[in-house]
Amino acid sequence: MSLEAVVFDLDDTLFAERQYVLSGFRAVAKWLDEEHGVPAGPAFSELRDLFEAGVRLTTFDEWLDGRGLSHAVETRELVEVYRNHVPAIAPASGIEGLLERLGHRFRLGLVSDGYAQVQRGKFAALHLAQHFQAVVFSDDLGRAYWKPSPRPFEVVAERLGIAAANCVYVADNPTKDFIGARSTGMRTVRLRRPDGVYALAEPPTDAHAPDFEVTETAALGPLLEDKLRGGGSAGPQERTDPGLRQVGETNYTPRTIASAERPTNV
Ligand SMILES: [Mg+2]
Repeated sequence: MSLEAVVFDLDDTLFAERQYVLSGFRAVAKWLDEEHGVPAGPAFSELRDLFEAGVRLTTFDEWLDGRGLSHAVETRELVEVYRNHVPAIAPASGIEGLLERLGHRFRLGLVSDGYAQVQRGKFAALHLAQHFQAVVFSDDLGRAYWKPSPRPFEVVAERLGIAAANCVYVADNPTKDFIGARSTGMRTVRLRRPDGVYALAEPPTDAHAPDFEVTETAALGPLLEDKLRGGGSAGPQERTDPGLRQVGETNYTPRTIASAERPTNV
């Protein structure tokens, strides 16, 4: 193998998903204020508190119940405002420099899951498109091809013109990000920032585990450029590299390249 392309996930890889969530809550709170006279400040704080308390998927239901507004406002209206808002998000610290640097040596791709319109809105808000030679929103391929389907990874490799075996996928969520990528022959790196929504998630099986794990953006450059790039030919030589975890091995023991020294942000 030799590394020729780096493919990135979007949420909690290129930017902090939490930032998007809060941006969405702000838009929802503003809408509630305008449409229903619910003061935006407290509404935003309450939604944020639910999120910080770990509520997922039922946040709006719980908030409406708690406010006694279930009869007046429909959850789907809030979801619509949330999904259609123009997100106020920015690339995670160090990402722009990393993409610039990697762009000199590799082709760069993106594979992102979720509703295509929502994901496109996020990607546009980040202003990073100029760095990528191939961008795949799995939703465009069909709902059946959301991760963990291997299909979006096959498509991105095809569009990059690089064999999947010479690509690496950088992402954050072990429940769905790595198993499909690995099945196409890509190597995988988990970016496990302490403030990530999935920072505490563990791979459900060995097949879901990444080959490498880093805890900060700054560790990605050295890993991709030095550790993974050299490579040489595939086969026995690669197997002896102690830093590379091979598909089929048991026991999830990713090699942590760097420790985070950043404080948690909540
Ligand atoms: Mg993600």
